Amino acid sequence: MDKKNMKSDMESQDTKNLMERRVFLALAGLGIGSFCMNKPIWAKENSSTKPNILLILADDLGYADLGITGCKDIATPHIDSIAVNGVRFSNGYVSCPVCSPTRAGLMTGRYQQRFGHWYNPGPPAKESEGIGLPLAEVTMASMLKEAGYTTGLVGKWHLGHDPERRPMKRGYDEFFGFLGGSHDYFKAQAGELNGIRRGDEPVDEKEYLTEAFAREAKDFITRHKDGPFFLYLSLNAVHTPMQAPDTYLERFPDITDKQRRMHAAMVSAMDDAVGGVLGTLKTNGLYDNTLVLFLSDNGGPTQANGADNTPFSGGKGTVMEGGIRVPLFMQWPAKFPAGTVYERPVISLDILPTALSAAGGTVPENVRFDGKDLAPFITKKKRGEPHDTLFWAWNTQKVIRSGKWKLVVSDDGEHLYNLEKDPAETTDLAGEEPKRVKKLREPLDAWASELQPPLWKGRVQTKRRRPLKKNRPKKS
Ligand code: CA
Repeated sequence: MDKKNMKSDMESQDTKNLMERRVFLALAGLGIGSFCMNKPIWAKENSSTKPNILLILADDLGYADLGITGCKDIATPHIDSIAVNGVRFSNGYVSCPVCSPTRAGLMTGRYQQRFGHWYNPGPPAKESEGIGLPLAEVTMASMLKEAGYTTGLVGKWHLGHDPERRPMKRGYDEFFGFLGGSHDYFKAQAGELNGIRRGDEPVDEKEYLTEAFAREAKDFITRHKDGPFFLYLSLNAVHTPMQAPDTYLERFPDITDKQRRMHAAMVSAMDDAVGGVLGTLKTNGLYDNTLVLFLSDNGGPTQANGADNTPFSGGKGTVMEGGIRVPLFMQWPAKFPAGTVYERPVISLDILPTALSAAGGTVPENVRFDGKDLAPFITKKKRGEPHDTLFWAWNTQKVIRSGKWKLVVSDDGEHLYNLEKDPAETTDLAGEEPKRVKKLREPLDAWASELQPPLWKGRVQTKRRRPLKKNRPKKS
């Protein structure tokens, strides 16, 4: 927060406090002060019924890197508990196979190519580059703030580092984290453009970053326990660089592959962090009426960080299932039945409409969501599917999923897969099913025609459609 805004916020808080004191004294004079001692009657309207919202985003976590999605060598009881106590989406997608565009879609509920946010902005090079989430887009934080929520971001932003694009200018009341796409976990020093900041002030951080982010998230929840609050905990685990304290590495003496062992240590630290944050909800009596969402921002980059996308092919940076199908869980004990597995295709764009609806907020004028409120589908108030079609556009590739079918249109032609029978996309059925290909191309081409050209170029991606290794071998 800049000093001017901070001052004005402090002044408005002071004014509010003063007014509250005056109302209290007036009511006390009328002899009805006893009603106000525990919960002031001028507390935020409906704050007791509005759910808090906790959005936890993992970075570069593979589909099968959690116990509940099939991992055998890393225990993740705390993250798993979100699915166990709520809903696991077995066909949960993100809108891009890399970090920043997925976050742009997540924060707006819209396919990010609609506003030209196709690629990563690259590492911060200078103070102002005019790159990042376009200023005309309204963020999840802004919408929830409008609905009466205190908003906080802890962790990775990656939606622009220009002063006007930073979190505190995009709807967040509080920010602790970094602006770029990755960060060293041990050397978190002030003074760099991508250094750790509190608000907009650079700060030194001594703790292992995953633990520091957990500390800040717990502190945010405790300070705002009277709610309602929206906390976006955007962990950079398990993105490179691969670093973990020995205490976490020592949990995995049997993993002989060095990279996988480090990955396991980082996942384990992340699970502890999530456990601590969920514990803070419980301690403060907030667990039942908090909507908790968990997902990874893209599939695992198996060769870079040792992630595992089993049973899918491909990974981060590809539009194969391994790049875009992610662990996606949601719990809200007061509302959603525990142990639900929801199998229809859903996408990260659904998170904002779901959260905004839960918050009783309103969609701003001129904002058109691509995502849907998933709550009525989970509670079975609505029949049918949230989405007849889902779309992706990445480099020169276009993709549609409709029911069990997935069509990929690439420079080298059309490729059709039956995901129900062939989740690993090993058998291209395009030659056998020309009518189906034609039928799927119509909505895909119509969607693609609505997109804006890229506002900036991304890093050059590999042209190889499939990685050399379909999946990383399991630990020995
Ligand atoms: Ca990522």
